[in-house]
Amino acid sequence: NTQESPLNVVIVPTPGMGHLIPLIEFANRLVNLHKFSVTFIIPNDGSTMELPKKLLLAQPEPISTIFLPPVSFDDLPEDARNETRIIQSLTRSLHFLRDEFKSLVQSTRVVAFVVDVFGIDAFDIAKEFGLEPYVFLATGFMLLSLIFELPKLDQIYSCEYRDLPEPIKLPGCVPFDGRDIPDPLQHRKDFVYQHTLQQCKDFPLAAGIIVNSFIDFEKGPFEALTEVGRGLPPVYPVGPLTRNSSDNEVEGFIDCLKWLDEQPIGSVLYVCFGSGGTLSREQMNELALGLEMSGQRFLWVVKEPVETAANATYFGSKSFNDPFSYLPDGFLERTKEVGLVIPSWAPQVHVLSHGSTGGFLTHCGWNSILEAIVHGVPLIAWPLYAEQKMNATLLKDDSNVAFRVNVNENGLVGREDIAKYAKQLIEGDEGKLLRTRMRELKNAAKMALSPHGSSTNHLAKVAGIWKKKGIN
Ligand code: UDP
Repeated sequence: NTQESPLNVVIVPTPGMGHLIPLIEFANRLVNLHKFSVTFIIPNDGSTMELPKKLLLAQPEPISTIFLPPVSFDDLPEDARNETRIIQSLTRSLHFLRDEFKSLVQSTRVVAFVVDVFGIDAFDIAKEFGLEPYVFLATGFMLLSLIFELPKLDQIYSCEYRDLPEPIKLPGCVPFDGRDIPDPLQHRKDFVYQHTLQQCKDFPLAAGIIVNSFIDFEKGPFEALTEVGRGLPPVYPVGPLTRNSSDNEVEGFIDCLKWLDEQPIGSVLYVCFGSGGTLSREQMNELALGLEMSGQRFLWVVKEPVETAANATYFGSKSFNDPFSYLPDGFLERTKEVGLVIPSWAPQVHVLSHGSTGGFLTHCGWNSILEAIVHGVPLIAWPLYAEQKMNATLLKDDSNVAFRVNVNENGLVGREDIAKYAKQLIEGDEGKLLRTRMRELKNAAKMALSPHGSSTNHLAKVAGIWKKKGIN
């Protein structure tokens, strides 16, 4: 705890690779650009934590990790929502978290306490030790606008948001359909809704909100949130923070990357629904036939289908049975000249940065979106859960970098629709427009992260505030 030891930033992510990945990038930028050390304190959701452990333990020395003891979910019903489990992972760990934080405060020069969007319940721990809590938002400004406006929407409307006759219009944002409001807010009587509403009310108590987005991507919502007089906490766009392709993730994927090497430039549609996205059996069949019908080259990350939730593998991150056995009969044989299907997980950043990749059919997880932007790959938006439907609206209606699939009256995206968009994205004129627009965003992202770019400057602002704490 000497004056020479680095100032320490404590970060508490809630479960999910989508939360952890950008926070690790954030930590690395704090270390490299501002010479902080970072301690992650990780609540343990009772899963194997295999992927988070691997990622965290591979970080350079100034980044260290404390894993909290596992909490039990034995009393939660089988069908408890993912959000409930995420929230409870944190709330049930608060006493462990407090003890670890206390000893860190005693042994290192802690200057900041950062939680993610589900971490508001930990604010008091920071305050107890004289620190102000910060939030790192692993999504964008449009979601942040919703967070600040939700208490108002809750007062104005009494019906479920999906039944609203008019689109929802948030300050500075493109209007979106009430059906596209994030899942946890779709059931107003649910525990998760009430809890989220309370968290939205508490959100302004944050000393600042660090957002993994950049101004040129979300100018409207950013400007509305920073308008003087709204009394909101300061926001710091520091993104797009994404993984780079220098990590050692290629291990085990040599064949997949070799296959990509052999395809023509810009010809492959990459199909992946993130770490947790799963389809029903029927939908998986439809997707397979749609891809086949399109005649396009594709690289598809397949997970075992489920009938229950679209985010069913979120906590396990991997499916365990052979997902190929669910593909239509003869599909692999018929498409072997143009398609590669791989189970469970792809080295996504490598795939997106590969010249052969010409499009990305995505579930619109925020990290996937940012990775696509950084590599200039246009999208087919197929949102499944969480805030992904709002993200899809942003991509299609505001940024103009995506097609969006239609869900038909049977709740399915039909094969013709899939084939049409796949073909149009890879070889059509409209696809070309989306690609051009995506490349513009890619350049804007690069500028934002350059030494004097807007995101670098915003990071320096927060870092400056934290460094001052170290002097006092
Ligand atoms: N990812 C990957 N390979 C896969 C699926 C996902 O590398 O097969 C990575 C992806 O690059 C991204 C993260 O996992 O960094 C997924 O985050 P996102 O926010 O897109 O979605 P989530 O998984 O949180 O729904």
